[in-house]
Amino acid sequence: MNKREFIKLAGLASVAAAVGNPAGMVSAASLKGKNNKNGNSPKAPFTVPALPYAFDALEPHIDKTTMEIHHDKHHGAYVKNLNDAVKGTKYESLSLDEILATVKADDKAIRNNGGGHYNHSLFWTLLSPTKTTPSDKLKAAVTASFGSWEKFQDAFNTAAKTVFGSGWAWLIVTPGKKLQVISTPNQDNPLMKGIVKETGTPILALDVWEHAYYLKYHNVRPDYISAFWNVINWNEVDKLYAAAV
Ligand code: MN
Repeated sequence: MNKREFIKLAGLASVAAAVGNPAGMVSAASLKGKNNKNGNSPKAPFTVPALPYAFDALEPHIDKTTMEIHHDKHHGAYVKNLNDAVKGTKYESLSLDEILATVKADDKAIRNNGGGHYNHSLFWTLLSPTKTTPSDKLKAAVTASFGSWEKFQDAFNTAAKTVFGSGWAWLIVTPGKKLQVISTPNQDNPLMKGIVKETGTPILALDVWEHAYYLKYHNVRPDYISAFWNVINWNEVDKLYAAAV
């Protein structure tokens, strides 16, 4: 093993050690809410933020094994591949938000892995093992935009169900400060100004890749979408909404 290979392996080992030890990770806070503005996101090398709860904390709605593989292996791979992809490019000195705002459709590795890192970092914070409820302010805004809370849920569920193949459903705050439900393919997200038509600030996100639900729900994506409503962290959604308007 040469020095370069050793450093690479040592780096992977420290990522593995860190994700098993939430106290050792510090980057989660900088990827969400008010801190997630251009210039404040961490730059490469990126790291996998710790889950703010245990792998089994979302049972029975999202199972432990899915969470463990999803966080450590899938998100871990996006981070590793993003770090490899930015090396030696103009993206190396940019924050994650800046990367996403400027990435071109053809920059596949950065688009897929930068999106993958951002989307998953956000997603973990939007889940909660304890029951939370949306604020009156958010409920009023949802009613104003969609007609009723139920109509918003229907719109979000439909967006999540109808993603063809892999992708995400989102509730975003548009540049005009309106609430909108959208979906994106693969790891694209509403921050990708050069790629996604309906851009904005994401405040709720649902991963509908099969890797997010297949072990427990098999091919029945709608059951996973229904279960998601039991574990949404509305306190976090409220915070993101307040920061975006
Ligand atoms: Mn995923």
